[in-house]
Amino acid sequence: MRARYHIRYVFLLILFPSGLLLGCGTTMNLVTGETQRGAYTWQEEVQIGREADPQIIAQFGLYNDAALTAYVERVAQAVLQTSAYSDPNTPAEIRSTPFHFRVLDSPVVNAMALPGGYIYVTRGLLVHLDNEAQLAVVLGHEIGHVLARHASRRAASAQLGQLGLLGAAVLGGVIGGGNVAEGILNYGGAGVQLLFLSYSRNDEREADRAGVAYAEFAGYDAAEAADFFGSLARLSQQGGGGGIPSFLSTHPDPGERRQTIPQLAAQYNPGGTSINAVEFLSQIDDIIIGNDPQQGYAEGGRFYHPQLRFQFTYPNGWEVNNTPSAVQISEPNGRAIIEFSFAQASSARAAGQEFGNQQGVSANSQRSTTVNGNRAYRLEGTANTNDGQVGFVVYFIEYGGNVYRFMGLEGASTFSSYSGTMRQSIQSFSRLTSQSHINRQPVRLDVVRADRSAAFSTFLRGRPTPDGFSTEGLAIMNQLQLNQTVSSGYRLKLPRQ
Ligand SMILES: [Zn+2]
Repeated sequence: MRARYHIRYVFLLILFPSGLLLGCGTTMNLVTGETQRGAYTWQEEVQIGREADPQIIAQFGLYNDAALTAYVERVAQAVLQTSAYSDPNTPAEIRSTPFHFRVLDSPVVNAMALPGGYIYVTRGLLVHLDNEAQLAVVLGHEIGHVLARHASRRAASAQLGQLGLLGAAVLGGVIGGGNVAEGILNYGGAGVQLLFLSYSRNDEREADRAGVAYAEFAGYDAAEAADFFGSLARLSQQGGGGGIPSFLSTHPDPGERRQTIPQLAAQYNPGGTSINAVEFLSQIDDIIIGNDPQQGYAEGGRFYHPQLRFQFTYPNGWEVNNTPSAVQISEPNGRAIIEFSFAQASSARAAGQEFGNQQGVSANSQRSTTVNGNRAYRLEGTANTNDGQVGFVVYFIEYGGNVYRFMGLEGASTFSSYSGTMRQSIQSFSRLTSQSHINRQPVRLDVVRADRSAAFSTFLRGRPTPDGFSTEGLAIMNQLQLNQTVSSGYRLKLPRQ
């Protein structure tokens, strides 16, 4: 959970302002050179990007490393300058639009683009790359989405109605539909996902072609990116853990891309030759790997948040999922879920009363209370969802200048089975004072040269395993197999505490 996270829910209203839907027109796809239907003018796309950008930043946070950010910007600008962006035939309004490149503080392996030239890579992506050529292809891919105006084309297509409905579902009431066990209250990522996930496979192939072309024009050996797609394929097989982002589900199969990327690159003759592994690795040296415990971590049945200085216990055996916007704790069979998140309100009482007044919510009891000395407001009752009734127990708690919502949910029929357990967790919420927990530091990247020829796995001895990783995950991060022999002098990406 991110301390600075505070803006939510508003994405889709911005992405699909109803007035703009009527204005479908013909626009030029700068990647293919073809004309296509688009929902937005370029200026509208820029406005969408400009308004959504602060929300992306609020949700994920910017990675706090000015030198690394400047480096990514430098590579990105070099790729941009060789793209259709700077073609003299490209409309002046596009050529004069500044593009923005940001590094997000997320362990998820992801890169994404907003319309109008806002492009993001995560620290999780950077640590999985081996050289600058791979970075150039990824950035070129995202630049391709922007210049091909895929968001606008998608919005103009029939998919829009569907997205609009999904958006309404996300935006509607505090208790949405869906299976309790699947975390129906997972608003945090939903808007972002809708924004980024829905490019078609055709869009993705177009962006891949652009990414390879722009990287080649900038002098890079784009075929290098194949190894990164090999890593993505292994991550997706592995599932969860150091985790493949769901955004890749709409991308072509990473295994397929591993084949097609070198074929695309081979079309450029003479092709680019620049790889810049040494420079790249020195730039990402020391980057945080995996989950940052400063943003919360679970240990021994207790969840700690060093930055926000709170802790609480959770039921034995339940699974903890810490996202930027919320902490979700699920009963292993999916029968109940506890969610801890920010509430948007000036007081616990105001938040609680607003919650109780929602349509479909019926509170059997509600009253002011305290939780370990913190002012709170508590409600219990039932709520209607698309999947039927759920029982809830929710506390709004004032603490450290924030109002938090701490809620347990389960199917109404089983409510009596879990309400006590869930209440116990909620009531354990308290101040975190232990310095050893407050000072918990993340695992960082240590770029070292192998001092001998040996299997990759042997270099992991005595090294920490970052939160969210396995040893296989560390091999994937290095684009190596665990038992693969590494020659003396090879640059390894190893974790250090
Ligand atoms: Zn893409």
